[in-house]
Amino acid sequence: MQPPRLQISNIVKEFGGRRVVDDVSLTVSPGQVTCLLGPSGCGKSTTLRIVAGVEMQGSGTIHVDGALVCDTVYRVPPEGRGIGLMFQDFALFPHLTVGKNVAFGLKGRDSKTRVHDLLDKVGMSRFVDEYPQQLSGGEQQRVALARALAPRPRIMLMDEPFSGLDDRLRDDIRDETLDVLKSEGTAVLLVTHEPGEAMRMADEIALMRDGRIVQQGAPYNIYNAPKDRAAAAFFSDIN
Ligand code: ADP
Ligand code: MG
Repeated sequence: MQPPRLQISNIVKEFGGRRVVDDVSLTVSPGQVTCLLGPSGCGKSTTLRIVAGVEMQGSGTIHVDGALVCDTVYRVPPEGRGIGLMFQDFALFPHLTVGKNVAFGLKGRDSKTRVHDLLDKVGMSRFVDEYPQQLSGGEQQRVALARALAPRPRIMLMDEPFSGLDDRLRDDIRDETLDVLKSEGTAVLLVTHEPGEAMRMADEIALMRDGRIVQQGAPYNIYNAPKDRAAAAFFSDIN
């Protein structure tokens, strides 16, 4: 059997003696969206940063396509992990056009085709020569998605990527983003505190609380059969 694209095993992280990530394990397959869902402060971003390689775990391992990328002594640097990142503050390079933002970090003959193809996928082709400050928040987010996908990352890590956008736009962007990610076959680990977002985007939800994964499964299974009262309450303010 093929190993999962991303395998997180027994990750523990403490800050000042307080355990903020407590024995977290999960896997993500190619073309799959796994969502780390939980209230603010439960340890989602810390987990993501450990996978990205910008934070080091206390114990546990991470494998990508079956290869070890880090344990407590061995560590592949962030840029060597085949990972793309998308955060709420997308921070496009303000002095570069949309096209150059997406092309940034690409080399070789095919980069022009790749940029064109991605801008087409996110519906931003006509903005190729514009600068980021001329775009709306939603448009900037689309460009950020294209830029993150340009080097064909094996894994996309997304931390509350849509929370800066207004409600009206958000559902559309979620759907479009999902279409693009699926068409690229990327494995996605999405972090959010919004159950509605997880229900809409995830193939698998890992419900997190106080550093631990308390329940894991298909969105509707978790929604229909929350494990305890706290899980049920968390899902009740779905929007
Ligand atoms: P979430 O993304 O789920 O909101 P975080 O992973 O950002 O949660 O944070 C989990 C907990 O760890 C929080 O209590 C936060 O204050 C704490 N924390 C995060 N980063 C640090 C740090 N660098 N130093 C100390 N505490 C931290
Ligand atoms: Mg966070």
